[in-house]
Amino acid sequence: MIIKTFPMGLIGTNAYLLIDDASKEALIIDLGGDISPIKSELENYGAELKFILNTHGHFDHIFGERDAQKIYDIPVWVHEEDKYLVENLPKQLEKFGFVMNMESPQNIKTFTENDIFKLGDNEIKVMHTPGHTPGSVCFLIGKNLFSGDTLFYTSVGRTDFEGGSFAQISDSIMNKLFKLDDEITVYPGHDAKTTIGYEKKYNCYFGSQNL
Ligand SMILES: [Zn+2]
Repeated sequence: MIIKTFPMGLIGTNAYLLIDDASKEALIIDLGGDISPIKSELENYGAELKFILNTHGHFDHIFGERDAQKIYDIPVWVHEEDKYLVENLPKQLEKFGFVMNMESPQNIKTFTENDIFKLGDNEIKVMHTPGHTPGSVCFLIGKNLFSGDTLFYTSVGRTDFEGGSFAQISDSIMNKLFKLDDEITVYPGHDAKTTIGYEKKYNCYFGSQNL
């Protein structure tokens, strides 16, 4: 599995491109900006884009998706409880103080806890991890976890936005993510990657050495 990171968009959100070496099937997680650099990679590898998956519905994770759909004509996927956010991109931008005219993604499909996507022979499992938003999820693919704005390097996502809950993000991290194997690599929605084992120890909110 090829994994490429593209920080992009208004506030440096990580978009991830995953390509299965064998089948050349590809997916994007959180397209928060211009798809051009990803499009080039897809062409370099001769890969076919199958899915655009979202860890949650915030504007900075979905910003480039309507434009991408004009090229690839595929649905975008999000947890059912965050669908309303994806449908309301212009309203979100307004709320966060950005003056710009952007269309919401269209053809929005939803997934829920434990749903599985397939990329070649690889399984991508949806883990519902609410707290940052009601429909925040992480995607588990082998020993890789794409954590969106739930778990960051030594930190966690904000819970003071609409629909956020610190009690829920605590439960998601302590009872779901920290039950995963220590060696799993965590690819967050912003900033550097980390591992489950490192966060169990050193996370500023939930690490054993910081409690
Ligand atoms: Zn967010």
